[in-house]
Order: sequence, then structure tokens, then C-alpha cells
Amino acid sequence: MTESQVRATPTRPVPFFPAGLAVERWSTDPAVVADRRVDRSGFVPSGWPVGVASAESVADVQIVLRAANAAGVPVVVRGAGTGLSGGAAGTDGCVILDVSGLDRIREISVVDAVAVVEPGVITAKLDRAAHRVGLRYAPDPASVEISTIGGNIATNAGGLRCAKYGVTADSVLGLDVVLADGELISTGGRTVKGVAGLDLTRLFVGSEGVLGVIVGATLRLRPIPVATATLAAYFDSVAAAVAVVGEIAAAGIVPAVAELLDGPTLTAIDTANGAVSHRARGEAFLLIQTDGAGAHAEASQIQALLHAGGAGHVTLTSDPEQAAGLVATRRAALPALERLGRVLIEDIAVPRSRLAEAITGIAAITESTGVLIYTMAHAADGNLHPIIVIPHPTNPDIAQTTDTAQGSSGSTQTSSAPDIPDHVWDAADQIFHLALNLGGTLTGEHGIGILKQRWLGHELGPRNHRLQQQLRQLFDPNAILNPGKAI
Ligand SMILES: Cc1cc2nc3c(=O)[nH]c(=O)nc-3n(C[C@H](O)[C@H](O)[C@H](O)COP(=O)(O)OP(=O)(O)OC[C@H]3O[C@@H](n4cnc5c(N)ncnc54)[C@H](O)[C@@H]3O)c2cc1C
Repeated sequence: MTESQVRATPTRPVPFFPAGLAVERWSTDPAVVADRRVDRSGFVPSGWPVGVASAESVADVQIVLRAANAAGVPVVVRGAGTGLSGGAAGTDGCVILDVSGLDRIREISVVDAVAVVEPGVITAKLDRAAHRVGLRYAPDPASVEISTIGGNIATNAGGLRCAKYGVTADSVLGLDVVLADGELISTGGRTVKGVAGLDLTRLFVGSEGVLGVIVGATLRLRPIPVATATLAAYFDSVAAAVAVVGEIAAAGIVPAVAELLDGPTLTAIDTANGAVSHRARGEAFLLIQTDGAGAHAEASQIQALLHAGGAGHVTLTSDPEQAAGLVATRRAALPALERLGRVLIEDIAVPRSRLAEAITGIAAITESTGVLIYTMAHAADGNLHPIIVIPHPTNPDIAQTTDTAQGSSGSTQTSSAPDIPDHVWDAADQIFHLALNLGGTLTGEHGIGILKQRWLGHELGPRNHRLQQQLRQLFDPNAILNPGKAI
């Protein structure tokens, strides 16, 4: 629990209990509420939730929604709380509806290549279960070991393998959803094809808990690739690495993974490891995986492109253990930055052809604002994570990384997040406009939540935005589902 969570204490008596819910599934304990009211964005809204309902069945979810809808009490659905945009942040007077206890894998069918799951299943757990029958769940957010399938669906999570296997939406065939009034509906099914009526399944994917509560999902599984090859390389500049990614695409190769880390991020990993191994090798790190029958031939082609593009320390391996070590470098990046302070992870995506311009633009923003921006990217699909670290006031590790982004992170946060200094917001604002000017989006995979709301209208335009708000109203006339978030 953070200092600011402890300080934000209950200010009012408990005005609400969802009648019919077992008492042991309801908590107003300040420690429990404080723990469940934040996600990994670090954002803490002002005020205090009325309680936490820990659902263990669809019926529990229905009880909570019926009671909340009748009383006009807001409901914030929560999976594992690993979201990075404040989507699961428990706002004043809300019920936090924790569905992580609905965590059963109900079925895995080899013939249909589907899994039927509850929303609280941890993503990696499903993938491991699929592996046992020769299949896999392709979407692999870097949070795969800690996030839930329901949260992945509600945010349309991406991950490392998206360029080849698509985002979460590409693996969702059908959903069970409890609507705001407590009614249960099913959408889609277990067939790959299906065009009866409007595609409500797709509408619920990425809806960030504002249209209904996902209580079941039928997910597409895929065969485990027959072969996988992993490459890693270091470059003298991020631009050189991005140029090679473009050449790989131009050669007609679709890598399963193409992850990019910039120099400051490599330094942060070195600092966390207590060793200077990565930054000494270059200003950019590129991790690539090819898979399927052509994995080795494609990897050889890519190896040649890496060398031609000026890469150094090139490694090519099909040994799973060595590959895991290379992938671990990428997965170490965010935890390494989190050691340094509060991380604000932006999540822009641009057309792949504009990736180099995005990188140059981010460097220019660092230059003009004095805010050091760490950048990692899912390079094959143009999704960049420019990251700003607001240092812990006493953290010596961060001292050399920026001399201007000095946050006051000890202050109690409110819904306008005053602990984020203005110059950091200014840098974020410039990052979002950069993405939009390059024909991209504010958020490739993390969602709008609370933190990106002020920019959404710029991307959607007034009519599109209004239509989305009207749709929301249709699903949730009393506006109880995650109010103040997403759209
Ligand atoms: C270290 C780290 C790495 C990450 N890497 C990635 C990555 O590579 N790709 C990526 O896309 N994201 C990534 N994330 C962000 C996060 O893990 C994803 O957004 C994830 O999908 C959230 O899942 P969750 O279960 O934690 O959802 P939560 O954070 O609990 O909720 C997220 C949103 O979904 C809603 N929601 C949750 N469950 C339901 C439900 N059953 N029905 C309706 N709405 C629901 C919530 O109200 C909220 O708006 C990362 C986060 C961390 C901390």
C-alpha cells in the first residue's frame, strides 16, 4: 500500500450493502478498500468507495448490479488491478466489484480450439493449460502472469505477439455479460465465423467496464508453433533499430515479436541488475522472434538484415533457455523503471511507417521540456510506450536521469492528480498530439481509463464521441458503470 493510499481514509458512514450478497463477500475494511481501489497507474481518486464486493459467481455479480442500479450507486469492476490508465480506480461512493474470484477454466476443446473461461483467470494460467493439450492462447501482454482474462478483454490488451497473432479482440469468439440492470446476456459463440446481428462481442472488447461486466468468455486457441527462433541485437541509435524493423517488414517477414528498448531504459535495467551490461553495448536493444515452420529461415534472413543495418552483439538462438534470457531483458524494463519512481506509461500507436518520426518526435519533446522520456516499443505494430518517471524524492538512482521532473509524490492524490507536475502533463500532452499528428492513437492497448480522458475528444471528433456516449447510455441508463472513465 502506498503512502497516499493510507492517507486517503474513509470520510463517510457506509450507506450501501448489496442485499442478498453473502456477508463474507462484502468488505468495508479500510485496508481492503485501500488495496482494491487503485490499479497499477498509481492514480488514487479523491473520496472513498462504499465497499468491496468479491464476487465468486455470476449470481453474485447480478446481485451487486441489481442493488447498485436500483440505488444509483456506481460500480467499478476490477480484475487484477494491473491496468495502467486508472480504469479500475475506485472512485468516491462506488462499489468495487472484484471479479478475480471467478477464476475457473471451464473447458478446453482441442477440436474446436477454444477455451471457455471465467473472467478472473490469470492469462498465463490459461496459456499453460492450453499448452498441456498442444495449443496456446496467443495474446501475451507483458503482464501475462498478473492480469486477468476479463481485464484483458475489457482493455483489448495487446502484448508482444500482436503483429502476427493480433490483439485480444482477435481471440475472443463469445462473451457472457451481466448488464447494468443485472440481466445476463450472451454474445457470439464458439465458431470462428458468425455474422448474425451486430457484433456486440467486439463492442464489449475494450469497453473498460462501462457497458457491462464480463462474466464468461469463449476464447480462440492456436497450435503451438513447431519452431521458434529468437534474435537479439544492439544498435548505436534507436533510429538504426527502427530502420531494420522497416526492412524486415519490406522483406515480407512478419515476426511474432519485435520489441525495442532505448538507451535510458537499458541504463535503468543495468541499474536494477547492479551491472553495466546492456547500455555498454548500445543505445538501443531489439528483440525479435520468428515462429512456425519457416522460423529458422526467417531468422537467418533477419540476422543478415541486422548485420547490414549496423547491429552489434547479435545473438540468434533456438535454445528455449537462452531465448527466455533474452526475452527477460524486455520483461525487466518496466520493473526496472518502477524502482526509480512513479512511472507514467504512455501508450501511443502510430502506423509502422511513421515509427521513426515518432521516435524523433519523442526525443524532441525530451529536449524541449527537459523531461526525460524512456521509450520501449512493440516495434512490429507501431505501439510505443514513452515512459516518464516521477522520481521518489529520496531515490539517488534517478538523480542522473532528469533534473526537471521532480514530483511531489508524497501528496494525497485527487481526481485531478495534482501530484503530477505541470511540466510532466505538458510532455504527455505533446506526446499525444505527436501520435495524432502521425495518424496514430492515444492508446494502443492500455485504454483511456481516467488518465487519458482529456485527450479522447481530439482523437474521436465530436460526433463519434457523442455517438459513443449515447451507446453507453443505452447499455447503462442510470450511469452506474465506471462513471467518469473511458468515454
Ligand atoms: C508490468 C505490466 C506490464 C503490462 N504490459 C501490458 C502489455 O504488454 N499489454 C497490455 O495491453 N497491457 C499491459 N499492461 C496493462 C494491464 O496489465 C492490462 O491493461 C490488463 O489487461 C489489465 O487486466 P486486469 O485484470 O489487471 O484489469 P484491471 O486493471 O482490474 O481493469 C482494467 C479495466 O478493465 C475493467 N474490467 C476488468 N475486469 C472486467 C470485467 N470482467 N468486465 C468488465 N470490465 C472489466 C476495469 O473496470 C478497468 O476499466 C501491463 C501492466 C503492468 C503492470
